[in-house]
Amino acid sequence: MARVLIIGCGGVASVAIHKCCQNSEVFSEICIASRTKSKCDALKEKLEGTTKTKITTAQVDADHVDQVAALIRDYQPDLVMNIALPYQDLTIMDACLECGVNYLDTANYEPEDLSDPAWRAQYEKRCKEEGFSAYFDYSYQWAYKEKFEKAGLTALLGTGFDPGVTQAYCAYAQKHLFDKIDTIDILDCNDGDHGYPFATNFNPEVNLREVSAPGSYWENGHWVEIPAMSIKREYNFKEVGEKDMYLLHHEEIESLAKNIPGVKRIRFFMTFGQSYLTHMKCLENVGMLSTEPVEFEGHKIVPIQFLKALLPDPASLGPRTVGKTNIGCIFTGRKDGVEQKAYIYNVCDHQECYKEVGSQAISYTTGVPAMVGAMMLLTGKWSKPGVYTVEEFDPDPYMEALNEWGLPWQVDRDPVLVD
Ligand code: NDP
Repeated sequence: MARVLIIGCGGVASVAIHKCCQNSEVFSEICIASRTKSKCDALKEKLEGTTKTKITTAQVDADHVDQVAALIRDYQPDLVMNIALPYQDLTIMDACLECGVNYLDTANYEPEDLSDPAWRAQYEKRCKEEGFSAYFDYSYQWAYKEKFEKAGLTALLGTGFDPGVTQAYCAYAQKHLFDKIDTIDILDCNDGDHGYPFATNFNPEVNLREVSAPGSYWENGHWVEIPAMSIKREYNFKEVGEKDMYLLHHEEIESLAKNIPGVKRIRFFMTFGQSYLTHMKCLENVGMLSTEPVEFEGHKIVPIQFLKALLPDPASLGPRTVGKTNIGCIFTGRKDGVEQKAYIYNVCDHQECYKEVGSQAISYTTGVPAMVGAMMLLTGKWSKPGVYTVEEFDPDPYMEALNEWGLPWQVDRDPVLVD
């Protein structure tokens, strides 16, 4: 039925591609395009013969608008799925506008080069005006809203799990469970054990930038920023058990604060083991998380990129990772004048994911919603010109598709709240 260009062939993209190939009625043809074409060819070879989806591959450096635009003109897709890195969001959006194609991604824009003076000036202004200092925010992509509207195209931002599914949970709670939501706590628990002393579950550079940044949350109409990892809570997760979790800044807080009317507080917590935190602090203290290039024996190297080369590839963790994830949102608020609470969540088993698509659960929980978001656009269930996040659409068909395609969710109407 549809032709889709998928950019990126890493951990998350590999799951999304497996899921598209399970759903050939919608994804009748896909082109897998990435910087390293051999990875696309290897995946094509693995999947061909198991699917009715017609697969082609291509090489593209998505940092360059002209390369992406040329590929779009050549392949003529109905949708471009950006599952490369957040660094490529704007170039791919520009190419989509140039060629008149819908766009989707799983993470909001951040620049690769944080020392660029033009970006730096805008960033510092935003830190002052908004009150949070994360390197990523929605302003760059929201600035494309009018252009996409005028072109009659849709850009769906952040259809992974968090961001992504967590926002569908919020829209579902708003539509079915509450007249007014007062507080949202997004909990991201990963109890996976891969047996390495230190590894990240998705792209190390993007992951470590996010986790080592100051935390922040939304309260009474403004941001409150705190030193990294300075708010810790313990929580007993169903099917996982008691875990330590820490308050982080996370991108969906920014859009939910605008789109959930009257919400008083939104926080995001992620679980970490002590070993992960000790390794990260040590690497940070010796400068290995730095994005500033340093001179080493006549070469310029970026410490965090060098670190990425040393760490295990997240896409290789699948066979080794055991345990479960439990990710969801706790809501408090009112319905028909009565106080209510709810936890909407999904539990995913790393080894079950590996058996199905050859990946651990973090790639799985992100790759499935990327396919589901694409399906919403391609089947016309979600269609309005402009630039939108997941909670701005009807949650029902998306929630139904999550149940069908591997991420079933549950609702606990009496969860323990986080203090
Ligand atoms: P990986 O590092 O495993 O894969 C990234 C892929 O993008 C690789 O195939 C890489 O190619 C390709 N790529 C990088 N730069 C370019 C470029 N300039 N042109 C073309 N291709 C390029 O990352 P993940 O799969 O772990 O993450 C993918 C995305 O998912 C990221 O944006 C991440 O932030 C997001 N994410 C979202 C989550 C959510 O819940 N919303 C959770 C986890 C991740 P090469 O092989 O050459 O390096």
